[in-house]
Amino acid sequence: MKQNVKNAMTIDVEDYFQVSAFEDKFNPKEWDSIVPRVERNTHRLLDLLSDNDGKATFFTLGWVAERFPELVKRISAEGHEVASHGMMHKRATDQSRDTFANDVGDAKKLLEDLTGHQVLGYRAPSFSFTNDNQWVYDVLQEQGYKYSSSVYPVVHDHYGIPGAPRFRYNSHTAIDEVPLSTMRMFGRNIPISGGGYFRLYPYVFTQYAINTFMSKEKEPYIFYLHPWEIDSNQPRVKDISAKTQFRHYLNLKRVERRLIRLLKDYSWSTMADIYGFDKLGTDIQFKGK
Ligand SMILES: [Zn+2]
Repeated sequence: MKQNVKNAMTIDVEDYFQVSAFEDKFNPKEWDSIVPRVERNTHRLLDLLSDNDGKATFFTLGWVAERFPELVKRISAEGHEVASHGMMHKRATDQSRDTFANDVGDAKKLLEDLTGHQVLGYRAPSFSFTNDNQWVYDVLQEQGYKYSSSVYPVVHDHYGIPGAPRFRYNSHTAIDEVPLSTMRMFGRNIPISGGGYFRLYPYVFTQYAINTFMSKEKEPYIFYLHPWEIDSNQPRVKDISAKTQFRHYLNLKRVERRLIRLLKDYSWSTMADIYGFDKLGTDIQFKGK
């Protein structure tokens, strides 16, 4: 039976060739020459959500929104939250303050023009907020965002701030950070928010982790997934390391079936709804001006 407490479903809308693990293989200048799969995969996710009465936040890449405006309009029209994943899927750690400001500013404006709704949230590619680039929150505030969901408080070779708080917290600006979900085990934070781990763990473990999280933490659980993760027929990228191969292609065939179970077992809503970001008062971007 479906649990009534609502958790946050989040989708990072990008194509398979835009992931950070393949950044050396596909130059952004060549993205337009590759047959896209993101549109169809995202429509499929929207169908699955609709069939199972779920709502989600779609952190959408501006590059995708520019090419598939009708997709973004459908996301919004069906009551989901359209949020921002930046324009070009560059890690925050690889950007200067100015390029980051342009990237997140352009994406926000584009998405707002398409939907007619204010974009409240941002998720950094590859959870690339670190202790060394905390200025990102100043920029997000300047650009009119309300929240970020860009920190994974785990030890990982490519991302994460191991000592970061595990639950919603204030950055040094008015921007709230909502970290991805973890479980305490053997004195460490174990990532349980989805993505590659959803493909790695058997569904029963994901279920156990979510149930434990919900009963212990009394905080909303956050799940994330990419459209390419339900696409087992995507072209295989050659000459990649064994680790990247494993991480990107593991269990793709099982994801859709697992996702349907997840949508049936739990209630899902948007970040804005669960955390009330859509009900925040004065527009902080104008504060003090
Ligand atoms: Zn991404």
